[in-house]
Amino acid sequence: MTTPDFTAALAALRKYFGYVSFRPTQEPVVRALLSGRDTAAIMPTGAGKSICFQIPALLFSGMTLVISPLISLMKDQVDDLNAQGIGAACINSSLSQRENDMCLQAVAEGRIKILYAAPERLESPYFQHLLQRQNVSMVAVDEAHCLSQWGHDFRPSYLQIAPFIDTLPVRPVVSAFTATATPEVREDIVRLLELRDPLIHVTGFDRPNLYFEVRHGEDKEKFVVKYVRQHETEAGIIYAATRKEVDALYTLLCRKHIAAGRYHAGLGEAERTQMQDDFLYDNLQVMVATNAFGMGIDKSNVRYVIHYNMPKNIEAYYQEAGRAGRDGEPGECILLYAPQDVMTQRYLIDISTEDEQRKAHNLGRLQKMSAYCHTPGCLCHFLLAYFGDPEAPDTCDNCGNCRSDNEKTDVTIDAQKVFSCVYRMRGRYGMTLVAQVLQGSKDKRLHDLRLDELSTYGLFRGRSLAAIKLLIQRFIATDYLALTESQFPLLVLQPPAYDVLRGKKKVYQYLPHEEKKPKKAAADNSLFEALRSLRLKLAKAAHVPPYLIFSDATLRDMSEKQPQTPEEFLDVRGVGEMKQKKYGSAFLDCIRMYRNHD
Ligand code: ADP
Repeated sequence: MTTPDFTAALAALRKYFGYVSFRPTQEPVVRALLSGRDTAAIMPTGAGKSICFQIPALLFSGMTLVISPLISLMKDQVDDLNAQGIGAACINSSLSQRENDMCLQAVAEGRIKILYAAPERLESPYFQHLLQRQNVSMVAVDEAHCLSQWGHDFRPSYLQIAPFIDTLPVRPVVSAFTATATPEVREDIVRLLELRDPLIHVTGFDRPNLYFEVRHGEDKEKFVVKYVRQHETEAGIIYAATRKEVDALYTLLCRKHIAAGRYHAGLGEAERTQMQDDFLYDNLQVMVATNAFGMGIDKSNVRYVIHYNMPKNIEAYYQEAGRAGRDGEPGECILLYAPQDVMTQRYLIDISTEDEQRKAHNLGRLQKMSAYCHTPGCLCHFLLAYFGDPEAPDTCDNCGNCRSDNEKTDVTIDAQKVFSCVYRMRGRYGMTLVAQVLQGSKDKRLHDLRLDELSTYGLFRGRSLAAIKLLIQRFIATDYLALTESQFPLLVLQPPAYDVLRGKKKVYQYLPHEEKKPKKAAADNSLFEALRSLRLKLAKAAHVPPYLIFSDATLRDMSEKQPQTPEEFLDVRGVGEMKQKKYGSAFLDCIRMYRNHD
């Protein structure tokens, strides 16, 4: 096989997708695949993983098989590729026998360049036989963390991929893509897919267009209603922990005449599909959902993701929050924290049927999530450091914590009191008991355990239990203290705490604040809004989601460049040849009208 060169890849990127260059994070993956090297790419949501395998797929002589876990995800991508004039198809259980047969017929005739299938399909002898007779150049595994027991969406059928590849007469290039960055998952991907001398490409996890914030002590319902009203022209997702909470919030928003949808596993298939489609087609402004929603959602113009409850771990949080701003435009990710959320998640771990080792592991991840909610430092730094990003700067100057106008406060004395109490309690008790001792609580348990005899008993007399616990949680978040990974987590000292006890180190915290976010510059949005409504009209007529016509980023670029001719229109980021032919004149007319009336 002659290897296609990178210039050809750039030309295809321009022609089909309307982009002039690969992002620096995409280029090494594309180059490796073009040279026939197996690749595992670990890139955050919105980094543009699909193009990394779609462009090589177009240039390879044979067909590419893409393994994807969700039908909706496949459908979106196939629609998108077809809209750019690329021969793509998917085969899955939601299609009729006839549709699947037609697809297989197209494959047999060599008319399909990119075929999407769910992993279960690989077990079908007919499918195996068919592909053995094709020239399969590449197998691309999307959402590859599904291979790993440690990934959050483990799918046993993913384990069939490597044996399937073995049945092909010529081994294709194998590529794997995921946004889950933990080392266990990465190792499992390489091992279980049997990658050969792979390029392992882990990009920075930074999403500079996203604004992160954790809010404590909010009246959550009021906050959400106000926020959604203030962002009336924008699409957003609100994640809640339970179906009950989703239903309650959904009812509330509907009562307030907000175009809201809901999504959780307790709803019927028809309602879920309808809600999801309405959201994709911009008929709904906001979707209230459990974590069942989103994995198959490619909608690029989600402008905010609010977590009504704290999720179970940082992987899940970053993936869900990361659904904001996939188009590179600004997005807001706000987590509404309440102590009850930790208890709910702990309960869910307790009652799960998983083995003890895994429960302990999950508990550890939950503790990290809670630490994120309590860190007084930069939230972006915390997230990036969690994912092992070596280049994570200490501050981002953009998250809720960095932008706050908190005073840096010396809390060394408080820290010494807490640490010495933990020391005297010998790391044998949990956070509540430590807080109670410091508070000087009259709780009978303390008396029974003779904890009221400790010299640290009552050092924080007069403070509320919640305030003391918050203080402790901040020390956990900053690694002075830790909770053990056990069913009843015990509070223990970490090495830096000893330096504080010995008076060798001072401790600072940025104490709670009233947020003062700089207001976004008020830009003239009228052309952007006009283009948006044209997009909606065209999308309705063609029965496709608006973002499949053009992304928000493309409309934004269009409103800035204000092209006048078809050639200029092609210069807009995200406009390929096919789309310029299809939509060019409508959008050019719209721009002309705007300019005449401006
Ligand atoms: P991921 O699968 O990594 O979450 P997507 O493949 O959905 O990301 O891509 C996110 C967005 O970035 C899409 O709107 C896509 O069109 C856009 N994109 C991808 N590659 C480029 C590029 N080279 N230049 C500009 N935009 C790009």
